[in-house]
Amino acid sequence: MAGFTSAAFDAIKDKVLAGERLSLDDGLVLYDPATPLHEVGQLANIVRERKNGNAAYYNINTHLNATNICVYRCTFCAFRSDLREAKGYAMSDEQILARGQEAIDNGCTEMHIVGGLHHQRKYEWYLHVVQTLHNAYPDLHLKAWTAVEINWFEFLTKRSIRSILEEQMAAGLGSMPGGGAEIFHPEVRSKICEHKADARNWFDIHRTAHQLGLKTNCTMLYGHIENAFHRIDHLIRLRELQDETGGFQTFIPLAFHPENTGLSHIKKPSALMDLRTIAVSRLMLDNIAHIKAYWIMLGIGTAQSALAYGADDLDGTVRHELIYHDAGATTPELLTTEQIRRLIVEAGREPIERDTLYRRIERDPSNPARWSVGEQILAAV
Ligand code: SF4
Repeated sequence: MAGFTSAAFDAIKDKVLAGERLSLDDGLVLYDPATPLHEVGQLANIVRERKNGNAAYYNINTHLNATNICVYRCTFCAFRSDLREAKGYAMSDEQILARGQEAIDNGCTEMHIVGGLHHQRKYEWYLHVVQTLHNAYPDLHLKAWTAVEINWFEFLTKRSIRSILEEQMAAGLGSMPGGGAEIFHPEVRSKICEHKADARNWFDIHRTAHQLGLKTNCTMLYGHIENAFHRIDHLIRLRELQDETGGFQTFIPLAFHPENTGLSHIKKPSALMDLRTIAVSRLMLDNIAHIKAYWIMLGIGTAQSALAYGADDLDGTVRHELIYHDAGATTPELLTTEQIRRLIVEAGREPIERDTLYRRIERDPSNPARWSVGEQILAAV
């Protein structure tokens, strides 16, 4: 393992300027606290601007967590509930459709749908959620089900990943979020989410999705019991699948929020760690177009700063976020379009509204809830 020297950092800089790929050892140098954060950030900013210029993307979106009841007990999760706990819920069709209508009324282009693995609900219920929403609101893009949920559907149905995804796509699934990745390395994964989909399952599901033409995102949950080696190993595994399929759109580093979790003794990562992780991700993931600074979890100030440390996307205006708010996030529950645009302009970037598939969105000035899809945004990857 290489320790930090200015020579080590200079060599990394030369590689980045020449557009060469960074190694695991390079990643460890970038995470070494002796490597000044602003140096890492400046380098990441070069790559960010090379790929996305001065643009900073956002979308108008909403979340739907149709149930919080979950058979698993991941130690980092504050969202889940037992079957008979007072906070447990599973939404009715009426409630789900009301969320869809609210999304349409507010000009949302995307609904992000994830939730618990309910002890008693059959696979058909999850399929029905997608079908019902898609039939009622065909223009609303449904970004639904993490690989952990798809893996649960495999368990419930004993069917292949491919046939499940094909059926979900026929019902209206538009893309998949990147959750459930946590940390892939078994040293960590076995301690924080022992029973759920392992790294091989997660990659098999995303690979199959990409082969079917379904775009997905990818994530990493950091700031708990993992170390820099586990993080870089995680990023390299993602980079390898991206080399194979090209199906990841965005990488989202997720900062661990300890409140109300089984790891509440751990301090939440500092803003400096958040910025370093954004920057290192931008530098390691040379083949993924976008790095997202998820403002809900980073806090608004850090998310704005992240736009100069490698990030080019702030996620969306967001409605009904529960997962991070259950874990103590103090960020607002939603931002207005004006607020998110102003945050971007304050950070010196150009705000661009995108849809889930990174196409420009054009709004009707006389009625901003009406929109149409414009040209594809092409990052230089
Ligand atoms: S992270 Fe997901 S799978 Fe794990 S307990 Fe929470 S809801 Fe269940």
